[in-house]
Amino acid sequence: MIVVMEPGSTQAQVDAAVKKVGDLGLRANVIVGTERTVIAVVGEEREHAKESLEVCDGVSSVMPILAPYKMASRELRSEPTCVTAGSFSAGGSIIGTIAGPCSVESENQIVETAKAVKAAGATALRGGAFKPRTSPYSFQGLKEEGLKMLAVGRAETGLAIVTEVVSTEDVALVAKYSDVLQVGARNMQNYRLLEAVGNVDRAVLLKRGPSATMDEFLLAAEYILNEGNPNVMLCERGIRTFETHTRFTLPLASVPYLHRKTHLPVIIDPSHGTGHTYLVPDMAVAAIAAGADGLIVEVHPDPQNAASDGYQSLDFAAFKLMMDRCRKVANALDRTMPMATV
Ligand code: PEP
Ligand code: MN
Repeated sequence: MIVVMEPGSTQAQVDAAVKKVGDLGLRANVIVGTERTVIAVVGEEREHAKESLEVCDGVSSVMPILAPYKMASRELRSEPTCVTAGSFSAGGSIIGTIAGPCSVESENQIVETAKAVKAAGATALRGGAFKPRTSPYSFQGLKEEGLKMLAVGRAETGLAIVTEVVSTEDVALVAKYSDVLQVGARNMQNYRLLEAVGNVDRAVLLKRGPSATMDEFLLAAEYILNEGNPNVMLCERGIRTFETHTRFTLPLASVPYLHRKTHLPVIIDPSHGTGHTYLVPDMAVAAIAAGADGLIVEVHPDPQNAASDGYQSLDFAAFKLMMDRCRKVANALDRTMPMATV
């Protein structure tokens, strides 16, 4: 349910309504909007809960949330959420760009990439230190050594760090070195991991599972939000279809669809979404045209010799050209792609 407070309701009235929610055995999340405050009420609903809340002082109305996801729903919050983590912001009018290699390979590789992507306009640095690989024989990442290299990249450029966490026991370690925790496509329905990242003070980039429906994707986000972490971004990275000309099929209709259903920012990954370097820039431009709030793009100093995903990585020059084209489209649509100022 959503408890909508009267415009100008007092803090004491909000507190009293929150207490009432607790007394009913439900959980309250207060969302302060520009026009009014609403209280998201989640939990298994009891009889007469709606009526008991309707009569609280300062309450304007109590409405059911029809979507299966509650906290993520647009019904709860009509304004878009802007997620900020250090140098990076995405949502509302702001478009954020996360760029960097698939895997962290060396300090030199990550620092060189951080400088190049920042100069081209990226606002966050990506790089996997814990890699979820299809084959156990593939490069698994440099683990904590890789996280330390990312921290050097941040120290040198000021760029926020986005890096994947693949298991609950690594959450504290990865959070220590990063600004945004990436939950990868393979872990979208790892509910204990979703709860764990919901309990740390870091933004989360949640990637869509390659065969997850939109409702499953949004319910996965709901797990994180329900733990009290409001800084969740949804990443469309392509789904598995019968088609083989691309690694995955990148459905850009996800952007306007998700904007209709949720207030959370939507990030597009044209690298995994296509699996081919030559397709990445056009799909990045198309993502901005479709209204995406951000991009996550694989960029490598020497894609041909990358430890992972080189075939879908851009070199520095191609990334710069892509960013220049994206910025033109963003400006034409009254969105801003800010440069990292730190
Ligand atoms: C990645 O970002 O390198 C990655 C493994 O992505 P995904 O989880 O979308 O496959
Ligand atoms: Mn990759």
